Amino acid sequence: MTDYPNLLTPLDLGHVTLRNRVLMGSMHTGLEETKDWGRVAEFYATRARGGAGLIVTGGMAPNREGGVFPGAAGLFSDEDIANHRRVTEAVHDEGGRIAMQILHAGRYAYSPECVAPSPIKSPISPFVPKELDEEGIEKQISDIATAAARAREAGYDGVEVMGSEGYFLNQFLVTRTNRRTDRWGGSYENRMRLPLEVMRRVRAAVGEDFIVIYRISMIDLVPEGSTFDEVLLLAREMEKAGASILNTGIGWHEARIPTIATSVPRAAFTWVTKKLMGHVSIPVITSNRINTPEVAERVLASGAADMVSMARPFLADPDFVRKAAEDRAREIAPCIACNQACLDHTFSGKISTCLVNPRAAYETELVIEPATEPKRIAIVGAGPAGLSAAITAAGRGHGVTLFEKAGRIGGQLDMAAEIPGKEEFKGLLEWFSIMLGKHGVDLRLGQEAGVDVLEDFDEIIIATGVRPRDPGIPAEPGARVLSYQDVLRGKAEVGERVAIIGAGGIGFDVAEYLVETDHPTLHLEKWLKEWGVTDPERARGGLAPEGPQPGPPARKVTLMQRKAEKPGRRLGKTTGWIHRATLRMKGVEMLGGVTYKKITQEGVLVRIGDEGETRLIPADTVVLCAGQESENDLAEALMAAGREPHVIGGAELANELDAKRAIDQGTRLASKL
Ligand code: NAP
Ligand code: SF4
Repeated sequence: MTDYPNLLTPLDLGHVTLRNRVLMGSMHTGLEETKDWGRVAEFYATRARGGAGLIVTGGMAPNREGGVFPGAAGLFSDEDIANHRRVTEAVHDEGGRIAMQILHAGRYAYSPECVAPSPIKSPISPFVPKELDEEGIEKQISDIATAAARAREAGYDGVEVMGSEGYFLNQFLVTRTNRRTDRWGGSYENRMRLPLEVMRRVRAAVGEDFIVIYRISMIDLVPEGSTFDEVLLLAREMEKAGASILNTGIGWHEARIPTIATSVPRAAFTWVTKKLMGHVSIPVITSNRINTPEVAERVLASGAADMVSMARPFLADPDFVRKAAEDRAREIAPCIACNQACLDHTFSGKISTCLVNPRAAYETELVIEPATEPKRIAIVGAGPAGLSAAITAAGRGHGVTLFEKAGRIGGQLDMAAEIPGKEEFKGLLEWFSIMLGKHGVDLRLGQEAGVDVLEDFDEIIIATGVRPRDPGIPAEPGARVLSYQDVLRGKAEVGERVAIIGAGGIGFDVAEYLVETDHPTLHLEKWLKEWGVTDPERARGGLAPEGPQPGPPARKVTLMQRKAEKPGRRLGKTTGWIHRATLRMKGVEMLGGVTYKKITQEGVLVRIGDEGETRLIPADTVVLCAGQESENDLAEALMAAGREPHVIGGAELANELDAKRAIDQGTRLASKL
């Protein structure tokens, strides 16, 4: 008897049966644009082998103007069709099914050629879109239908028509972006004409025995968004127009409410999808922050949907479904919803991969095979670099001993797990712990390895991490100055008024830790209230009329940096705004261009800007978050003794170190030993 009876039940769609209720949701990885079709095929085939019921590809442009950026991939030629056929065949060879997402970006297209119902610029794009005329509208519909027909020719089992997240079809639906007065605008009947016409024409182009998913925006989370009645009407009309499945989208990209970040509670929006159940007779899919089979099963068992969509979890672990089915769910590498290696890469024009799984989208390059000659390997430091090196090396058959001077594994990750909104890091550490056990790593906690202890090992990996940098600001006797480690490890009392020196990732984390009284990520109702989300039946777009209602801050915090730029500007592309908004809601003062003069018992004496006067930032506690330095004394001692250790992670380079680089480096090194 499986623990996931709902999740693993096949889904009969009439002409085809999906093997389970798991959809691998669409993600733009950038792979298609590399034109390395062997790599694209392997990426999807790996996920099919891992058991996904139905895979949806990254968004393919129906035409040049609709591409998310100039040069975005699509099915424009016979050569494109032949390339995509390699992908569909590889997936079918693994027993999988795959649908191609057709994504017309409308005004979100990063191009001066972008088109939309009305010439209204989006707040997240520099380009004013061109207003489409009647002929232009017909061209868009026709191009989308043609893309669907070509997808069928390329061997896909279906298409997903992207109608949510504020993209082109969604832009027609709401007055925020559609101010037309012709038959494509005005009344709701007119505004939904284009998405419905698209669905009818797509269905006509592909025939009956083909999956056509419509991704419907359930809750726009923007002003002037759809009402719930409008969403229901659209859903019913989509079914009539030929949709075989409704997948649900949450929030426009320009929404100022987080929808998939790690601080969003798990399955935070499945209650919205549930409101659709019973109103249509085709299957309904729910999504957003579902990252374990337990959560997915609970969602399905609660009747919130017929199927669950998970996207990023398939980057973290392509074998998600297979492991769940084989009673090995504990071995599933968890997606911690950090966005650091997937979405942040996409928005920086880089190939998406995964912080937890550096092999994601690099399957053909980063190959991990059994070791030809098993060795005795010592790894010093059980932070992310050491842990990933240990499980990779041991997984290949090496004998691995992992020394950690602390009483527990995790290093910097262990501290990050204390931050409200970063609770997922705990799951990642649990996973590392399980994998250390599975691969028989000899873990020596509380043991500081010296040169002598390491003598008998064939290879030594130094992953001793970092130590906090002391910025050397003069401090008066009696001033209370703490390091971020003292604070996050709960070792020190922190006063009511706090000045934080350094506004990098850790400065922001510490500020959130100090102002938050609770873990809203673990309390859905509280979290929804904090961000101003309400039932879409109560208010258009699901935006609470009373706005965000954050709880009072636990402390008065001032966050400072020397750079004369907006603090937090260098945080993750897709998550930095959330951290800034969270701190603003909690009344944190964020100051750039600061020169530190002295720390006194009353606070920090600073000058702000080149011309500013010296002023006191009142504080009874000052926390140093001024970056780190490499902890590499052992590496140096080993080299002095004639050994050649491999130095990785923060021990090698402290600057801009994060778990992504550490895990990538640990995995890659261990794959070659
Ligand atoms: P960081 O991002 O390099 O920030 C260090 C901060 O200290 C900066 O604000 C810097 O700003 C300041 N600073 C540096 N030298 C200083 C000095 N001598 N005196 C005073 N201030 C000084 O490092 P971090 O915050 O320690 O984070 C470490 C790594 O973990 C980073 O790579 C970070 O991206 C990563 N991380 C990521 C996340 C995430 O959510 N993605 C969260 C936490 C940490 P000024 O030089 O302008 O003063
Ligand atoms: Fe999940 Fe982070 Fe990996 Fe993206 S990078 S898939 S959010 S763990």
